[in-house]
Amino acid sequence: MERSRVNTDVAQRPVRVGSSIRPALIAANWKMHKTPAEAVAFIEAFRAIDVGGVETLLFPAMTSLSWVTEATRGMRLDVGAQDMHWLGEGAYTGETSPTMLLAVGCTHVLIGHSERRRYFNETDETVNRKLLSAIAHGLIPVVCVGETKAERADGATAAVLERQVTVALRGVDITRSGSLIFAYEPLWAIGDGTQAGPSVTEDAHTWIRANVASVLGAESAQRTRILYGGSVDAENAAHLWMLADVDGVLVGGASLDPQSFAAIIRAAKLTAA
Ligand code: PEP
Repeated sequence: MERSRVNTDVAQRPVRVGSSIRPALIAANWKMHKTPAEAVAFIEAFRAIDVGGVETLLFPAMTSLSWVTEATRGMRLDVGAQDMHWLGEGAYTGETSPTMLLAVGCTHVLIGHSERRRYFNETDETVNRKLLSAIAHGLIPVVCVGETKAERADGATAAVLERQVTVALRGVDITRSGSLIFAYEPLWAIGDGTQAGPSVTEDAHTWIRANVASVLGAESAQRTRILYGGSVDAENAAHLWMLADVDGVLVGGASLDPQSFAAIIRAAKLTAA
């Protein structure tokens, strides 16, 4: 097993999934899918299913954000953007600012998704700028971290997570950090049906929390929610809720259909109850 250089004692905590300190969270990343009409149709179907009781969050495409925030009015369903620029405004063609996201009703923002890092030159440093900006603007950041297949094969997972987490958190003022969320998304598990096994997931979440503790202190680390993402579906979600440091899931492909997303939420409700 790989060893992290940070103290992992903080992860041995008495907090259960869905506790009041870290309520369970289920998030959907729709990536570059769904027109506004398709997004609204999803919300209407989802409303009829009634899976209330678990904190749920949608990350639609930018063009659907205002439609989705409007359609989810009165529902316990938060909405976030899949990315943002760190500045409030400026000459940055094609970019979207945190103030624009707030104006259309976003409460959250996804930062540093591996597809942004891989295809759009997102770096640990830009992740850090976006994280600081999200906190300053009152948006809740969901920061994605995770290793590649080659990094895992090299035994570098702990070091990669340590670097990604500590650089992301550089300069964060804990008194203003509010709700901080990380998503562990091993790149080799995204989109291909290969979910990380329990010990891999548990180790990674423990390391992430320990790294948060080493930068922000143990108390902040205990409040920080860490989601697992990578080929989660209704069948394989249940075992994740048994893992002490898994506070929720970030779902890609299986979140596109309201029935399959609802089934994941039901599985969480059953296990965390
Ligand atoms: C993702 O890319 O955030 C993700 C979790 O995708 P999938 O569930 O499709 O693996």
